[in-house]
Amino acid sequence: MFKAAFTTLGCKVNQYETQKILDTFENKGFDIVPFESVADVYVINTCSVTSIAESKSRYTIRRALKNNPLAKVVVTGCATQMAINKKESMDGADVMVPNPNKLDTLAYLLEAFPELENALNDNVKQNKFIPAQHRSRANIKIQDGCSIYCSYCSIPYTRPGMVSRPHQEVLDEVEKMVALGYKEIILTGVLIGSYGPESGSHGPDFEELIELIEKIDGLKRIRISSIEANQVTDRLIEVIKKDSSKVVPHLHIPLQCGDTQVLKDMNRPYDQQYYIDLCKRLYREIPDFSLTTDIMVGFPTETDERFESSVHVCKEVNYLKAHLFRFSPRFGTPADKWGDLVKPEEKQRRSKVLGEITRQTAQDHMDKFVGRTMRTLVELKETNNGMLKGLTDNYLEVVFAGPKSVLGNLVYVKLLSRQGNHLLGELVEVEEKTEKNLSKKFIPLLG
Ligand code: SF4
Repeated sequence: MFKAAFTTLGCKVNQYETQKILDTFENKGFDIVPFESVADVYVINTCSVTSIAESKSRYTIRRALKNNPLAKVVVTGCATQMAINKKESMDGADVMVPNPNKLDTLAYLLEAFPELENALNDNVKQNKFIPAQHRSRANIKIQDGCSIYCSYCSIPYTRPGMVSRPHQEVLDEVEKMVALGYKEIILTGVLIGSYGPESGSHGPDFEELIELIEKIDGLKRIRISSIEANQVTDRLIEVIKKDSSKVVPHLHIPLQCGDTQVLKDMNRPYDQQYYIDLCKRLYREIPDFSLTTDIMVGFPTETDERFESSVHVCKEVNYLKAHLFRFSPRFGTPADKWGDLVKPEEKQRRSKVLGEITRQTAQDHMDKFVGRTMRTLVELKETNNGMLKGLTDNYLEVVFAGPKSVLGNLVYVKLLSRQGNHLLGELVEVEEKTEKNLSKKFIPLLG
């Protein structure tokens, strides 16, 4: 049997798409094996968000060939598209699949190596789902592409245009995931707030789509993977804060920079005050709200003084988590022409400063919940010492002792203390598994 191995670099959209590509390979008769094992075909879904991500993408090709020097290596994703745009090859890759066509990766492979077609077990396995390792949270892609053209970002060149997935297709996929046992879905996309009828939803806009998804029996939690500040509408806030909401009180709102002039240079559609006011409103109106973000340091116009604005915003809005990354010029973007003006050691310093501040704001935020009993989805993994790990609705990481039988379930955990970047808790009760009746019923663990 032919063996295929897959790996993904970058965002949740890429992860989702790798799973879709993997499904087509498995249905064609490939045996899916871990990336570190010997395979006949390696598929690498690459990323170009920073120069580091791009180098890692190329390094991963070398890793694949180390596992099996005779294997066929197929690459797709944003770094691949950037290379295609630059009319470059990627060393070691046999097939380069343009990013917009990545779901046809198998067809590209078979066209390049027709001999594979005959050798494959062509026993099509219709409607077969990969047995999921983690049946707790599933990514659902609802939208693709971006045409905002932030001056540092290559995505509009690798995923051009904005396309919304027809809403019925999204609803069908969520239903399938719930039937498989997933309790939470994570809505993903490049610019998900732009979801709507103008770009192909066949009816609902983003808020209406969420309300349709909420009606699906058995689904317990909906998480929004990332949303731009200017797309957090009054209606979205209402949807999140209503009593019956399945949308969790957690948003990931990229800041990128806290300085209004730099945001302008970046072509970001908000300024410092708008961002701060929005975040404060979210904390005020949504009980237990948590906030996470992405911040870039070292943009060419980010002077020492302007960097202090990012420090100010971080202190004002109390992030639970911040993904910090350093600017690197991306081919073909406006900022590419401005050069890489901030020295690497200064970028490192800025990153360290923000890292320390956001670590402190995260700990302060977590401390507020010590003593509370909170609903937690138990992830299908255990820490080294055999404890269970889970995420509360508002994205706090909790470690606690409990039976393996609760893996993948929603439980209630009393938060006893904080240890570093997670909370230690005590299992109180398990939410009853009732697929039809969503009213909260509990099975007491003790007594
Ligand atoms: S909004 Fe800006 S950063 Fe986000 S994908 Fe579009 S261009 Fe890139």
